[in-house]
Amino acid sequence: MTETRSTCPYCGVGCGVIIESAGDAITGVRGDPDHPANFGRLCSKGSTLHLTATREVTLQTRLLQPMQRAARGATPQPIGWDAALELAADRFAATIAAHGADAVGFYISGQLLTEDYYVFNKLAKGLVGTNNVDSNSRLCMSSAVAGYKMTLGADAPPCCYDDIAHASTLFIAGSNTAYAHPIVFRRIEDARRANPALKIVVVDPRRTETAASADLHLAIAPGTDVALFNGLLHVMLWEGWTDAAYIAAHTSGFDALKARVRDFAPKDVARLCGIDEADLVQAARWFANIDATQPAGRAPTLSMYCQGLNQSTSGSLKNAALINLHLATAQIGRPGAGPFSLTGQPNAMGGREVGAMANLLSGHRDLADARDRDEVARLWGVVDVPSTPGLSAVEMFEAAADGALHALWIACTNPAQSMPDQATVRRALERCEFVVVQEAFATTATCGYADLLLPATTWGEKSGTVTNSERRISRVRAAVAAPGAARDDWAIAADFARRLEARLRASGGSRAVVERSLFEHASAEAIWNEHRETTRGRDLDIGGLDYARLEREPAQWPWPAGAGAGRSRLYADGIYPTADGRARFVDAAYEPPAERRDARFPFVLNTGRLRDQWHGMSRTGTVARLFGHVPEPAVEMNPSDMQRLRLADGDLVTVTSRRGAITLAAQASVAQAPAQAFIAMHWGDEFLSGAAGGPAETRAPGGAADARPGRAAGVNALTQPAFCARSKQPELKHAAVRIARADLP
Ligand code: SF4
Repeated sequence: MTETRSTCPYCGVGCGVIIESAGDAITGVRGDPDHPANFGRLCSKGSTLHLTATREVTLQTRLLQPMQRAARGATPQPIGWDAALELAADRFAATIAAHGADAVGFYISGQLLTEDYYVFNKLAKGLVGTNNVDSNSRLCMSSAVAGYKMTLGADAPPCCYDDIAHASTLFIAGSNTAYAHPIVFRRIEDARRANPALKIVVVDPRRTETAASADLHLAIAPGTDVALFNGLLHVMLWEGWTDAAYIAAHTSGFDALKARVRDFAPKDVARLCGIDEADLVQAARWFANIDATQPAGRAPTLSMYCQGLNQSTSGSLKNAALINLHLATAQIGRPGAGPFSLTGQPNAMGGREVGAMANLLSGHRDLADARDRDEVARLWGVVDVPSTPGLSAVEMFEAAADGALHALWIACTNPAQSMPDQATVRRALERCEFVVVQEAFATTATCGYADLLLPATTWGEKSGTVTNSERRISRVRAAVAAPGAARDDWAIAADFARRLEARLRASGGSRAVVERSLFEHASAEAIWNEHRETTRGRDLDIGGLDYARLEREPAQWPWPAGAGAGRSRLYADGIYPTADGRARFVDAAYEPPAERRDARFPFVLNTGRLRDQWHGMSRTGTVARLFGHVPEPAVEMNPSDMQRLRLADGDLVTVTSRRGAITLAAQASVAQAPAQAFIAMHWGDEFLSGAAGGPAETRAPGGAADARPGRAAGVNALTQPAFCARSKQPELKHAAVRIARADLP
C-alpha cells in the first residue's frame, strides 16, 4: 500500500488527507494528523472520499476521452486529443478574428488548483486579450473580496483557525458552520468545552444546527444584515463601547459612518430585523467585549461569516458593515479577534491570489489600475492587459443568451445547475456557437450542452496547490494515474493556448512581445514558480514558498523570500495596505433585497448546503451512505405554513418564482420562520431525469453527457440573477416564491 499526503477537494477548511492506494486503485483515506487545518479529523464528506474514486464509480461517472458532438442534441463521439484541441483552437481563432477578443469567455472554478487557475487567467487576459474570465467563486466569495478591499485595503483574511480557541465571543453571521465547514465547527465545540464562558452569537434567518448551538440566535428577517450591524454600532456608540483611540490612530471615515448609524436606533432596527431589542443590545455588549482585566481592555471577538452575507445584492456592504464593527472596537490584529470570512470552495482563495476573475489581476492587483495592468503585462510578456472590465459570471451567460458571446470554455464547474436563473443560462448555452466543457465528470447537466468534452483529472490524480480560508497553502498530490485519456486541467489549458497562440502569431494577431511561447510550462511546479514571481512585493508575497518548502508543511502567506515563517495573523501593528496606512470605515446604507415578497409570491426562498453533500453531487452523489442524512430534495417550511396549505410531510408541491417552477416534496421544519422556505442547492435535473446525482447504481449510463438538454429542475430554476453592484455576486439566497400543492391547478 502507498500513502500520499494531499488535501480534501471539498470545502475551504482545506483539511489534510492521507490517501491510501494500491497500484492504480485508491483504497482508503484518513485525516492527516500533521495538517494544521484539521489535525487528523475529517467530516462525513472527507472521510468517504475514497468511495468516490472506486473503479466502478470511475466507469460510471467519469469522462474518459475527448468527445465531440457533431450537432446539438447528437450523441457525442470520441475524438483524439490532438484533433480536439486543433478544433478548439480553430474555432476560438475564427471567433476572435470575426467578432473580436471579447466575443469569447472562460468560466472556471474554485475547484481548480492554483496552477490551473493561473494558466486560464494568462490565457484569457494575456494571450486572447479579454478579461472575460470569471469563476464560480463569483457565486461564493466575491462579496468578501470586495468587503476586505473596501475596508482593510487588500483581499487578505486577517485571522486563522487558532483564533477560535482564543476568542471570548464568536459572532457567526450567515454561516451554517456545522454543515458547511464541519471541521471548523468541531474547533468551535472544542473552544466551548475548554472555555464554558465563551459566548456564541449566530445571525441567521434559519434556526440551523449552528444557530441552535448558540447562546444568542438573532433570527433576523432575510436580507436585513446591514441594518443589524449598523444598529449594533449605534448601541456601541451610545454605550461608549467603541475604541476612540484606535479609531483615531488607525482608521478613516468614521464621522460619515457615525452620522449614518444615528438613524439605526435599536427600537427601529429590532422592528426591521424582527428581533428583540434586548437581544440586539446583548449582542452589541458581547461583541464589544469590554473587560478591564484584559490587556487590551476588552476580551477578543472573532466573527466568522459566509454565504449569508456574500450571496446578496448588498453583499459587499454586509461584509463592510461587519468589518466596521471590528474597526470601531479594535477587535482585530490580536489573537482571537478579527473578521474571518470562511471560503466555500477548496481553492476560491487561490483563484483570488492569481486574479482569475473578471475584475482582478495576478498577485492581488486590480484591473482598474493602469500601473497594475502594466506590471502584469510585463511579467507575462504581452503588449498589454486590456482595461475593459470582463464579464462576471451572470453577465457572461446573459451576454451569451443575447448572442454577444460566441464561444465559451467551461472548466470544472456546472453552470447548468449552479448559476441562478437557469432559464437564461440554458438559453445561453444553447445559443452560444461553440461550447467547450473541460470536466472530470460526464454526469453534469452542463456536459449535455457541450460541442467538445475534454476529460480532466480530479482529486487523487492531480498535483498542485490550494489555499484555504486562513491563507494556508497546501500541496495537492496525485496518488494514482489518470483514468483513460484524462489530463490535468493546467495541461489541457496550456496545450490549447499554445495552439491558439500559433494561429494568432501566424495571422499577425499575437499580443506577445517575446519570441518564446507564453505557455512553455513543463509542470505544475513551473507554473507555481511563475505565479510566485507575480506576488513579489505584494501583500500576499509568496516568494519564499517553493514546492520544496511546501513539501515540508502547509504554509500561510505572506511568506517572502528569506522569511523563516508565514504570518498567522495580519494587522497587529494597526497599519493597513491602503494609501495612508489606515483602514477605511464604509458608510453602509441599508438596501433591501432585490425581490420583495408580495401577494402573488408570498414566501422568501433561501438556498444552501446540506451536511453530507457537496455542490451538484458529481462526487458525493456516488456514495450511498451520504444519502442517509437527507435522502431526497424537499422544500422546508414552517409547520404553520404547512398547516395553512394543508400539507403533510412528503406531499408534492410546486414552487414557483418569476423565472420558473419546480416540483418536489414538502417538509415541515421549525428551522424555518413563517413565510420562509429553504431548498438545498445540491439536487439538479437528475432528481427528475435520473441521469445523475443519486447513488451510482441508479444513474443512467453515460450520465448527462448523453442527455438532451432540458428544463431545469433544481432550485436555480427559481433563483434570480440580480447581483451586488460592487462585487457582482448574485443574490442566490433571496427569491420570492409561491408554494402550492402539485396536484392543484
Ligand atoms: Fe473536507 Fe471540508 Fe470536511 Fe475538511 S471540513 S474534510 S475540507 S469537506
